[in-house]
Amino acid sequence: MAFDIEMIKNVYANMTARVDKAREIVGRPLTLTEKILYNHLWEGTPSKAFTRGKDYVDFAPDRVACQDATAQMALLQFMHAGKAKVAVPTTVHCDHLIQAKVDAVTDLARAKTQSNEVFDFLSSVSNKYGIGFWKPGAGIIHQVVLENYAFPGGMMIGTDSHTVNAGGLGMVAIGVGGADAVDVMSGMAWELKFPKLIGVKLTGKLSGWTAPKDVILKVAGILTVKGGTGAIVEYFGEGAEAMSCTGKGTICNMGAEIGATTSTFGYDASMDRYLRSTDRADIADEANKIASYLTGDAEVYANPEQYFDQVIEINLSELEPYLNGPFTPDLATPISRMKEEAIKNDWPLKIEYGLIGSCTNSSYEDISRAASLAKQVADKKLKTKSNFTITPGSELVRYTIERDGFIDTFDKIGATVFANACGPCIGMWDREGAEKEERNTIVHSFNRNFSKRADGNPNTLAFVGSPELVTALAIAGDLSFNPLTDTLINEDGEEVKLDEPTGNELPPRGFAVEDAGFQAPALDGSGVSVVVSPTSERLQLLAPFEPWDGRNITNAKLLIKAFGKCTTDHISMAGPWLRFRGHLDNISNNMLIGAINAFNQKANSVKNQLTGAYEAVPAVQRAYKAAGIPSIVVGDHNYGEGSSREHAAMEPRFLGVKAVLVKSFARIHETNLKKQGMLALTFANEADYDKIQENDTINFTNLTEFAPGVPLTLEFTHEDGSVDVILANHTYNEGQIGWFVAGSALNLIAKAGNA
Ligand code: SF4
Repeated sequence: MAFDIEMIKNVYANMTARVDKAREIVGRPLTLTEKILYNHLWEGTPSKAFTRGKDYVDFAPDRVACQDATAQMALLQFMHAGKAKVAVPTTVHCDHLIQAKVDAVTDLARAKTQSNEVFDFLSSVSNKYGIGFWKPGAGIIHQVVLENYAFPGGMMIGTDSHTVNAGGLGMVAIGVGGADAVDVMSGMAWELKFPKLIGVKLTGKLSGWTAPKDVILKVAGILTVKGGTGAIVEYFGEGAEAMSCTGKGTICNMGAEIGATTSTFGYDASMDRYLRSTDRADIADEANKIASYLTGDAEVYANPEQYFDQVIEINLSELEPYLNGPFTPDLATPISRMKEEAIKNDWPLKIEYGLIGSCTNSSYEDISRAASLAKQVADKKLKTKSNFTITPGSELVRYTIERDGFIDTFDKIGATVFANACGPCIGMWDREGAEKEERNTIVHSFNRNFSKRADGNPNTLAFVGSPELVTALAIAGDLSFNPLTDTLINEDGEEVKLDEPTGNELPPRGFAVEDAGFQAPALDGSGVSVVVSPTSERLQLLAPFEPWDGRNITNAKLLIKAFGKCTTDHISMAGPWLRFRGHLDNISNNMLIGAINAFNQKANSVKNQLTGAYEAVPAVQRAYKAAGIPSIVVGDHNYGEGSSREHAAMEPRFLGVKAVLVKSFARIHETNLKKQGMLALTFANEADYDKIQENDTINFTNLTEFAPGVPLTLEFTHEDGSVDVILANHTYNEGQIGWFVAGSALNLIAKAGNA
């Protein structure tokens, strides 16, 4: 079912020579991150050194993983690439569309009914194109990847920000948008700015109440939610080696919360143990042969200040358990100070829910340590004060912990076991009473705790901690409880203290599972048909965008002149629109509804030049499209910042917008526009933004000579008949102009495939 050992052998076969070459070119010892990156250059053997934080580099990742919410549009696009199979090993995981409410069985059955057509679609596309498919209930993407696909020294991308979790097994694993995944699945290069490097040296050893989660909670407190931006975080030192592989996964997982590109650890004995326990002894054997290439050079770790852009040192022997929150994962409070902080900030002390599990913290080690606390409830005659839930990360873990009696232990403290899925971590939690929006406190072992994230209630204060701390706090039901020092009163009125948690890094009797929930793809998918109902409101097959007609765009209307910040959320909102992520026509009804119209300072209210009436942006654009009138969008600085979602580029393209002219672009959105066959242009003179008027009609005059480095000229005819000629710069190279001409990058790939 799982990994491709031949692919991994190939990665390792290249690694020694390429890393040696990179060391020679760079002229100094290398970090692990650099070794992995230089071994995955699109060009193959390195021929030049790259500048961190500056050079854009083409890479060749080994794998792709997609979750069900983002896979829909990615696979709909991939279907247009004209390929018989994905170019690199790829998997799809059904985990985001399962709402937690009653229990695993009931919730899973309901999700299968509600999202049946989406699951069927993903299953059939996977079957057809050689993609491994993990059914609903099989587990959460990142846990399943760690158990089955991650390997030391590998490079992968995934359409989910916590793809970074695979760094726990020594990968460089990066979260991307669907369009990037489609490129790699189609056999194209994947571009990334060569990252800066942050080194985290871990000395000492975790013990007692402290867990790997506390390392990243502490790091988040130091670096804040933006501190890792543009950087890969590399952990090393005796403390790292003494930690479990799954613990390393937890740390890397939450690297997303500091904005890091990804995080990783060097190969060590804990990874060897984890690989063997998850039935991958052959990978461990291969990794051991080139072990020194799968970690940073000794000199780098001896003098990290010389080789990393920033170095942080944490002594694990002195580290305290942390609780981070509320509302942001970087508000780090050591448990010894929580009582004081909670009282000072008037955080509700009563804990309504303790929730453990998720992709971040549902390893065997996590669950066994949490269970050791749950067991003390009966042993010490206590009662659990808060509601308590568990969301296992995979069926492999769930089955194994059930076999080993932990589910039974949790059952005895009244816990609810939810499906092996995201559930409460992504707001897919139908929490009773949440609609009353009462102020309340929950503690969980997930990764994000933004407002409304878990239950949709903006007044839920969520604190993030290790599974063992969350369990102890749920038993006490009190945010001010410090299990290291405080006692609880039991049923006999006696003061009792919880013993330190204990557990096993890996199951002593090995992992077990009856049905892991994997569907292997057909060897020859040519006969597999992908069925999408034409009446579906959630899925719609894509039609290729029209190629350019070779003429200047003329008589275009101004759709909107966006004022100020216009992120991808303003262009294609999330929330209730998520359910339409696989239906381009329906989701296009949110196009630019969050953008502020510069002429009336209102959102979703623009002038329809055909009628003079002010209407919703999508409605006006649909009117232009119906009348065969092209349009353009004008914007301010950093247009399209935020998420990399390709919908923000596909929607305007689908509805007939031809060009986006702005003061400056967020780079990923600019690339997404280019990939979808749009014109992404910037004012040569920013002040020209002010010349754009509400009733403008626009003519391009030299699009027929579209060439790299040559600005385009646009005539803006105003209502009074006056004309402003505006120069627009662009960054299209020859290949990207080819995307525009073909109608989209995918059209071009499909054409090349058919040639
Ligand atoms: Fe994302 Fe949470 Fe699901 Fe993990 S469990 S993949 S963080 S939604």
